[in-house]
Amino acid sequence: KSGFISIIGRPNVGKSTFLNRVIGQKIAIMSDKPQTTRNKVQGVLTQDTSQMIFIDTPGMHKPKHKLGDFMMKVAKNTMKEVDVIMFMVNATEPIGSGDKMIMELLEGNQTPVFLVINKIDEVHPDELFGIIDSYKNEYKFAEIVPISALQGNNIDRLLSTIESYL
Ligand code: GDP
Ligand code: MG
Repeated sequence: KSGFISIIGRPNVGKSTFLNRVIGQKIAIMSDKPQTTRNKVQGVLTQDTSQMIFIDTPGMHKPKHKLGDFMMKVAKNTMKEVDVIMFMVNATEPIGSGDKMIMELLEGNQTPVFLVINKIDEVHPDELFGIIDSYKNEYKFAEIVPISALQGNNIDRLLSTIESYL
């Protein structure tokens, strides 16, 4: 199995920390999935049963600025070209306008979206339920996976769940 995963989310939610933890190598990729220069390959995870190519989605990282029509189009087309969208959020912060903007952008798209709640090492389990509920109210996620990219909690489960979508 092989597929593309785009990681989106506000700055400082832990996207780089996650990638650094899971990525073993950066190599050029051959795939039958159509790719464009819009997508920047960030890293590749090669395992026994799968290859996951993590990419950056331009235009999804500027929550402070309203996206122009052109960038909206770019972001939406890019979403169609991946198998899974990982929307990463910070468990220690309430939903912000940046998060809401990203969820608006995701609205109506056909690609499965995972809500990845990072930094669970910093919150009490009871708090986590509240956070999950608040995001559930905003968007219908294919999966919701709490992790700690820093400590490595639940990363294996996240990866095997992604694999089941490839
Ligand atoms: P990015 O901007 O989304 O790429 O976020 P970074 O990966 O640069 O992380 C931002 C900050 O959050 C850094 O100081 C990380 O060490 C910290 N961080 C990332 N993941 C975790 C986590 O699971 N738990 C905790 N406590 N801190 C984290
Ligand atoms: Mg980063």
